[in-house]
Amino acid sequence: MTRFTKITASIGPNSETRDMISRMISAGVNVFRLNFSHDTGDVQGAKIDMIRDIAQRAGVPIAIMVDIQGPKHRIGDFATENHYPLRVGQKFILDSDPTLGNEHRVNLPDTDVIHSLSVGDRVLLNDGKIELKVDAVFDDKIETTVVRGDEIWSRRGFNLPDTDIDTDILTPKDRADLEYALTKNPDFVAVSFVQRAEDISAVRDFITARTSHPVKIVAKIERPNAVSRISDIANAADAIMVARGDLAVEMPFEQVPAISRRIIRECRRLNRPVIMATQMLSSMVHSEFPTRAEISDVATAAYLRADSTMTSEETTIGDNPENVIKTMNKILSFADADTIANPYDWSRVDDIPENDWSRSVVSMAQLNKVSAIVVFARDTDSTTAISCRRPDIPIVAVCGDDVVANQLCLSRGVFPICDGYLFGQRDAFNSVRQFGIGTGKLVIVDEDKVSLRTLD
Ligand code: PEP
Repeated sequence: MTRFTKITASIGPNSETRDMISRMISAGVNVFRLNFSHDTGDVQGAKIDMIRDIAQRAGVPIAIMVDIQGPKHRIGDFATENHYPLRVGQKFILDSDPTLGNEHRVNLPDTDVIHSLSVGDRVLLNDGKIELKVDAVFDDKIETTVVRGDEIWSRRGFNLPDTDIDTDILTPKDRADLEYALTKNPDFVAVSFVQRAEDISAVRDFITARTSHPVKIVAKIERPNAVSRISDIANAADAIMVARGDLAVEMPFEQVPAISRRIIRECRRLNRPVIMATQMLSSMVHSEFPTRAEISDVATAAYLRADSTMTSEETTIGDNPENVIKTMNKILSFADADTIANPYDWSRVDDIPENDWSRSVVSMAQLNKVSAIVVFARDTDSTTAISCRRPDIPIVAVCGDDVVANQLCLSRGVFPICDGYLFGQRDAFNSVRQFGIGTGKLVIVDEDKVSLRTLD
């Protein structure tokens, strides 16, 4: 039980077979992420059914996270050649004209964003390789000057780091995707390009109008205005993902480690699980071994006591997704064991009140040097709060309901079991024995009753 940091794995063309999903579960995946930017509808539905079936046969709780594309903005197509060089100092226009573009202009299919832009705002194209500065805004076009140039290609995504974009958080595509996904009872829905707490409320309203299933919402933090509103967004959402891919385009990349650390600390304070995402082991798309820097990045997430690390293209299009998960498992297990042996907390939260309930449970567990904290979990709240105090002691969550067990798969140091009998009997001793704990003391949490027991 030394791995406390959870593994969220994105799946794609190279990981969607029954055999590979089973291997990835055996190698340590806790949460599977399905990216609706790519396949939609029934194709994704079949994958969800397959994962549920494999997890049920293996008898392990596994969570499913549906990741909705969100308002990712793209430019239109270019004529004849499909790419053009943009040179520093030249003028370039983004407009509502649907005709094919050239080196002077290109269509902006989503004209809504024009009205959100102001003179001086930056427009970043091609993962930030091209930077345009807005010179003038008209009803149907924006005129810009190229500040950083590169080749420009058809349909590239663009980012507006200086702009509060006034469009719906759910595009028509997202609404259709989410409507379908909700029929499959996902454990988590990840929302892309969140800018404000109201975006989360809008998605929650959409979900609750369609299902009574208690879907948890993960806010992906990838825009500067979301970083500055992190407390409100974390309060409105159920979990947070530090989506470093877009974040490092929209913000100066050297700031991303400091921002990530601040977000982890805030999530811990507000009792929200937090996922560290993107390029954690990207060299393993083709390599058998990670780079030294990647090993350090994964271990750092564990030392900062994030809830979960995440894989992206290394498990979607990589040569060996199982090897990626084994590698991540190995790095996290070592770092987590080291954290227990040398408990310096690199992302400590100092402002949890002393009389906070979860803090008292953890103090009791630490003072008594217990082997585990056992929570009889009716929902995820108490277990998540205890986990967010980062006790560095295993938290065994005995759940009577598989949805609660699945959703706790994201929380650091929580080992969920879904067993109606153990839950009904409030059988703490047999619950921990499933994890090889046979001696020592336990803290047992059952609703608002907290007790200390010794294993016989
Ligand atoms: C990211 O930008 O880091 C991210 C996780 O988002 P996506 O993979 O959906 O682009």
